[in-house]
Formats: sequence, C-alpha cells, structure tokens
Amino acid sequence: MHVVVVGSGMAGLTCALALQAGGADVTVLEGGQRLGGRARTVRSAFQHGRYVESGAEWIDTDHHRMRGLLDRYGLTLQGVGQEWTTIRRMLFRDGRMHAVDEIRSLDPSVDEQLGRLEDAFERIADGIDDPARPDLHPDAAHHDERSVADVAAEVDLGELASLFARRNSQGEFAAEQREVSSLFVAQQRAQMRVHGIEGTVRAHRLEGGLDGLVQRLAADLVPGTVRLGETVRRVQWDDDGVQVHTDLGVHVGAHVVLACSLVPLRSVQFTPELPVPLARAIRELGYGTVTKTALQFESRRWPEGYATTSLPAQRVYEPTVDQRDEESDSGVLMAYAGGDGGRKLAVLDEPARIAAVADDLRAMYDLTEAPIGAFSRAWSNEPRYGGSYAAYGPGQVTAHWDVLRRPCGPIRLAGEAVATWTGYLEGAVESGERAAGEILGTV
Ligand SMILES: Cc1cc2nc3c(=O)[nH]c(=O)nc-3n(C[C@H](O)[C@H](O)[C@H](O)COP(=O)(O)OP(=O)(O)OC[C@H]3O[C@@H](n4cnc5c(N)ncnc54)[C@H](O)[C@@H]3O)c2cc1C
Repeated sequence: MHVVVVGSGMAGLTCALALQAGGADVTVLEGGQRLGGRARTVRSAFQHGRYVESGAEWIDTDHHRMRGLLDRYGLTLQGVGQEWTTIRRMLFRDGRMHAVDEIRSLDPSVDEQLGRLEDAFERIADGIDDPARPDLHPDAAHHDERSVADVAAEVDLGELASLFARRNSQGEFAAEQREVSSLFVAQQRAQMRVHGIEGTVRAHRLEGGLDGLVQRLAADLVPGTVRLGETVRRVQWDDDGVQVHTDLGVHVGAHVVLACSLVPLRSVQFTPELPVPLARAIRELGYGTVTKTALQFESRRWPEGYATTSLPAQRVYEPTVDQRDEESDSGVLMAYAGGDGGRKLAVLDEPARIAAVADDLRAMYDLTEAPIGAFSRAWSNEPRYGGSYAAYGPGQVTAHWDVLRRPCGPIRLAGEAVATWTGYLEGAVESGERAAGEILGTV
C-alpha cells in the first residue's frame, strides 16, 4: 500500500514513521526546503552558540506523546521550566517595571477577577464528557457562539485583569478574545483534566533545540521517503485512491494524508471538489497570528522571568535563560506578539519589526547596548502556514470540529488543527499517529 503524506512537520513525520512501521510504502511531499514545519530552531542569527525557537518552543507537563518521543531518542528537557500563569510575571506599565508583588498592590483583587474568568471556562468544561468531541456538549451551540470576549464581559474585569486576560488570549490562542469560541477554550481545559492537570501547567524547552528531534525522526524514515521542494497543487481522488500533483510530477497512492495547515490547502484544487461541509471548514477555520522577534545582547542586563507589557512587544522573556557557559554572558530577549498586535508587526518588514521591538526592550530594561544578533518571524506572512496555529472562532467548534476529523474517501487531514491537542506539537503527533492508525486499521 502506498500512502502520500503532505507536509514534513511533526504530524507528517510521525504519520510517515507509523505507516512505515505498519508496512506501508510512504512518500512525504514537502513544499519547503527543510523539515520540521513550525518546529524551527534559529541558530544563524545569533552568536556564542545561542539558539532560539522561532515557532514551537515549549513541551508541557501533560504532552505525553512528545515526552515519549524525547525518551525514545534520549533527548532531555532544559532547566526547571516555566509555570503557565495568566499573570506573567512582571508588568511594565506607565514607564516602570513592576515586580510581581507590586502588581497585587496595583489591584489587590486582580487574582480573584482572573479566577472568575477561569471558573467560567471550567464550568463550560464540566459539560464536555470527551475532549475529543466538544461539539457533543449538551449546550454546545450556545457556548460555541459566545466568544471569550463575551464571557470576559460578564465576569467584569478591571483594567489590569483585562490586560492580563487579553495577553493570555494573544499568547495561548494567538488571537484576540473576540476571535476565540468559549467552547474551544473549555475543550482545552477539559483536555487538561483528562491528564490530571488542573490549574498550573509546567512547560520546558528541549535541550539543544527542537530541530534535534526533527532530525532524529527524519533519520528513522526509510531513505528517500521525503521529497523536498514539492508543493502540492492538485489532488485527484476517488474511492480507489489519489493522484497528488506537484510542480514536479504526480504521486499515486491508496491514501493521502494532508498533514499541514488548512491555509495552504485553500489553494489546492480537489478533483472532484470536496463535500461542501469539509471544503467550508478548510476555508473558514480561524488561525491565530504570532510574530516572534528576538534580539541578542552581549550581556544579560535584565531580571529573569516573563514580563507583560501594554507596549507592542506584549510579552517578553529570555528563551536562552538556560543556555549558560563560561565563554559568554550573552542572552536573547524574545517578544511574543499575537492577535492584533502580531498582525500589526507582521505588516512591517523584518528590520522594521526588530527596530520596533528594540525600542520596547530599551524602554522596559533601560538597555543601552546595541543588539549583536536578531531575527523576527511573522508566521501569518508565510504562505505554507498562513498563521501560527488554529483558533476555533465563535460557531466553529459545532460547525467544523467533527467534519475536519472524519476521512473523506482516501483523503485524511492531520496536523495540529484537527487534533484534540489543537495548537500544540502534541496535537501534531496525535493527529499524525491517528491518521496512520486509521489507514492501517489499528485504531
Ligand atoms: C509562533 C509559534 C509558537 C508555538 N509555540 C508552541 C509551543 O510552545 N508548544 C507547542 O507544543 N506548540 C507550539 N506551536 C504549535 C506547533 O508549532 C504546531 O502545532 C506544530 O508544529 C504543527 O505541526 P504540523 O505538522 O501540524 O504542521 P506544520 O509544522 O505546519 O507542518 C506542515 C508542513 O507542510 C508543508 N506544506 C504546507 N503546504 C504544503 C503543500 N501545499 N505542499 C507540500 N507541503 C506543504 C509546510 O511547509 C510544513 O513543513 C507554536 C507555533 C507557532 C507558529
């Protein structure tokens, strides 16, 4: 049995490995010239051996498939990790950096207000029996049509809590609160409950960079499996199989797994056309925007830990906090800008984005040194991604969740957008392994 897999991100690679382990003959078509997709470590922009993740960065406590892969390849997590908290962690406002304790004195009830918002999602999550089917919530239509902004308006947040809640949506979903379905947020909370994680999640970076994992996965594939520079333009299908057309030729298979963002699929021609609900879901599903901009300095002149700011940089942290050596005290500061702020930065070219973030960093940390390295990536500008990761918008869980996860003849979707762990590396792996299991008849 020959299977064509489109995309060499974590979903495509893990799908291809599982298919090959089950005896299938696999071709992976990758439009770009590198493997890994949104797992993309940047080294060349930096000095002193520092490296930074331009896409996925964190592996959470409950990401068991990812942790299983690290164990398989003897890879280790870095440092003590980071706790995911809504108040993250210092606050730069009115020209001054406030330490975490001072934030509470600015508004003593800020935790209680944010707790009310979180409780509202937890109550919706109570109605989700199976996080793989949030669309079966008894009141699904009602919660799905309400956005996170609608729920936030009801719990009545003060100015400070509103800023933290907005930054949380821009960071976690890469989208504004109005763009995210409250049922989608509740689905994510329900998913965490299944894994026994309620409240705080801890997350770690991969020691040595995520590209190390990508290389190991690729090395386990049968040689010649991946064909780089083959962008899929057309998929011709019937009950017997598929012909997948790229600029360089045609690949025939019994099945195709489309393991990529839905945005590039919008310009792939399907013959015959896909059924209307599936075509609509592919066309409409919401995607967040993240612009990550990182600047390296010769020495670390900033306090450790996340800082939230009302400036365009949104949230600033040091991704190199655990990269320490005798040779140099150099470190990198990263600005993670999502939603409207991410889109605003994305319209600038890379040097202008770096300059804009440099201004913010100077204001926040009184930095006087010039940076010695920098890069910025606006994921929404990249045609093979078209955004950062899926964010189901109001009405989209009930309309699209199930249809995106069902096979259509020989065509299956994989990738984070169609996983239970939507938006994560874990989801990419989950979806890739599921698609392979369905084809092999093992799930
Ligand atoms: C800024 C950012 C931060 C993130 N942070 C985290 C994090 O901290 N933790 C976490 O777990 N996840 C994070 N994620 C999400 C994570 O990166 C993704 O969930 C995961 O990498 C997606 O993998 P995938 O295989 O589904 O898709 P992709 O990685 O997008 O792979 C799809 C591949 O398909 C290729 N392709 C697309 N169209 C075509 C075509 N027509 N023909 C051929 N090839 C094509 C693409 O070039 C790409 O290589 C982040 C993502 C971003 C963008």
